[in-house]
Amino acid sequence: EEWKDRGAAVGMRKEVDVNGKTIMKPVKKGVRDFSFGRVLGEGSYSSVYLATDRQTLKEYAVKVLEKRHIIKERKIKYVNIEKDTLNRLTEHPGIVRLYYTFQDENSLYYVLDICSGGELLGVLKKTGTFDVECTRFFGAQILDAIEYMHSRGVIHRDLKPENVLLDDQLHVKITDFGTARLLSDPRASQAPPKIEDMGTSSRGKEQDDNRAASFVGTAEYVSPELLTNKNACKASDLWAFGCIIYQMLAGRPPFKGGSEYLTFQKIVNLDYDFPPGFPPAAQDLVERCLVLDPAQRLTIEHIKNHELFDGQQFGKMLWKAKAPRLRPFIPP
Ligand code: ATP
Repeated sequence: EEWKDRGAAVGMRKEVDVNGKTIMKPVKKGVRDFSFGRVLGEGSYSSVYLATDRQTLKEYAVKVLEKRHIIKERKIKYVNIEKDTLNRLTEHPGIVRLYYTFQDENSLYYVLDICSGGELLGVLKKTGTFDVECTRFFGAQILDAIEYMHSRGVIHRDLKPENVLLDDQLHVKITDFGTARLLSDPRASQAPPKIEDMGTSSRGKEQDDNRAASFVGTAEYVSPELLTNKNACKASDLWAFGCIIYQMLAGRPPFKGGSEYLTFQKIVNLDYDFPPGFPPAAQDLVERCLVLDPAQRLTIEHIKNHELFDGQQFGKMLWKAKAPRLRPFIPP
């Protein structure tokens, strides 16, 4: 019921209204405006197809969700969160852009930027690790995208290398906002977990307790505050950022136990170490992101000024830059 289609009108159409009067109605994009190609990927609740706009021939990734399945699995809330969030985040190259949404009898459709480079995780697995230059480049783009989403009042809460997609230029596009949190006041919640509650949407608290309690996702990037007081804040995304920087250079996430429970134990005990030869500047940055108290973590501004990002451009220039050649990290 809450689902509202999105997208610019592509023209006007004559229609006869209930009183028999002829009116002009805007025509919005719909399923028939796209020709569907191969499957780009499958999720638990969706299939993603390559699709071409028949008029402009522009290619998109179209995520299709079957209504029956969404209802049966009680995921309506997540579907709406993803749509509302993406609708807030349409002006940054580092976030997968949502162009149109529409539906037919059986399915919901999201028309998204196509990310033909696939997941950062897949690219990383090919080389095993990334050298400092690659780590710096992807790290800077991820950070720039996080800064934008935080400025728009969005906490991602599930950042991990699977949710960092790459386009054909190997530029970062962050995706998967189904578990994001929208703050009604974008300026709220820099670090202390309590503050964030004040900026929560009306459905907020109860919904989030449910979500934390029924935590599924990948355990490895979850922040300690989410595990101990079931509360995430903006700094929780920077914990995940620290984990991702570590993983690019080490080839594995910092916290990984034999089970989800053991991984959680490692996280809350800050039980991890660095492989021999890990670059000192990166180690220093990771250590300052992987801090148990979210209020003590580096802020985005601090990270940008950190030695690891010496000489690195952020903002517009960063998105014009060519991605470095993918090379593994070779310890000295
Ligand atoms: P799950 O719901 O099980 O966690 P998911 O969140 O990855 O899975 P989707 O976001 O629907 O589910 O994505 C399914 C697959 O499609 C993923 O493997 C992803 O890499 C691919 N995919 C998603 N969005 C795009 C896109 N914009 N461009 C290219 N591929 C995409």
